[in-house]
Amino acid sequence: MTRILLLGGTTEASALARRLADAGVDAIFSYAGRTESPVAQPLPTRVGGFGGVDGLAAYLRAERITHVIDATHPFAAGMSRNALAACTLTRTPICTLERAPWVVGPGDDWRAVADTAGAVAALPHDPTRIFLAIGKQTLADFAARPQHRYLLRLVDAPTAPLPLTDVTLILARGPFDEADDLALLQTYRIGLIVAKNAGGSGADAKLKAARTLGIPVILIDRPTLPARRVFTEIDDVLYWLSHPARLGL
Ligand code: NAP
Repeated sequence: MTRILLLGGTTEASALARRLADAGVDAIFSYAGRTESPVAQPLPTRVGGFGGVDGLAAYLRAERITHVIDATHPFAAGMSRNALAACTLTRTPICTLERAPWVVGPGDDWRAVADTAGAVAALPHDPTRIFLAIGKQTLADFAARPQHRYLLRLVDAPTAPLPLTDVTLILARGPFDEADDLALLQTYRIGLIVAKNAGGSGADAKLKAARTLGIPVILIDRPTLPARRVFTEIDDVLYWLSHPARLGL
């Protein structure tokens, strides 16, 4: 009997949850619990960490999980690494559903950096209005460059004081619209965007708007992960689930 653990937090995970629910597949959806009111899912849902590799391995055994699908955010590397390790320990087949990264196109002024520290190092010296579109977890690194004025867009109001001094906060949940992001960049007279290369269509509006306005973008590359079985299409994940023999599982 198939029983799936779907590690979520992305638009793609929600779309896959819908497909699994419609097909009547036995599956559990898992959220990290990073937002106050996560999108409701059509599957039984649990929230919060498992307690590292050992905790996840114990969970897989206790819940008799037969397959894990890692559809976490491309920057949620800790969860992805733990899932790979726990699946190796428990001999549970695992695949990843991951959207392709954004690729630079004509008219884009992008500079790729390896990580948040690279983004901080790449900031200009002169005071600049910066749209810091990186979520909330690594904001403190930018405190080292207090000469800039930062615009943040977060899903929930912060529960602790922000680590930046000159900061404007907007609360909004994607997907975002290109016309709205164009207006946002103009309203706040943004001169530079810092973003993570999340990929997908829900958050690329700011990049399209930046192209239109000729605004440079510092784009943080995805973290490197061990070799994995990665699919970009939901249909391929469903094929993988239903054809274990052909895939040597
Ligand atoms: P992470 O470093 O991969 O995860 C840290 C821990 O959170 C994991 O070890 C796990 O705890 C728990 N966790 C993560 N995803 C989980 C899931 N789907 N179900 C249950 N537990 C989960 O990821 P992060 O700290 O959440 O985020 C890192 C970066 O990813 C952020 O800075 C942001 O750029 C991006 N991001 C993440 C999410 C998300 O939903 N996680 C959403 C948007 C963006 P245990 O070790 O206890 O199991």
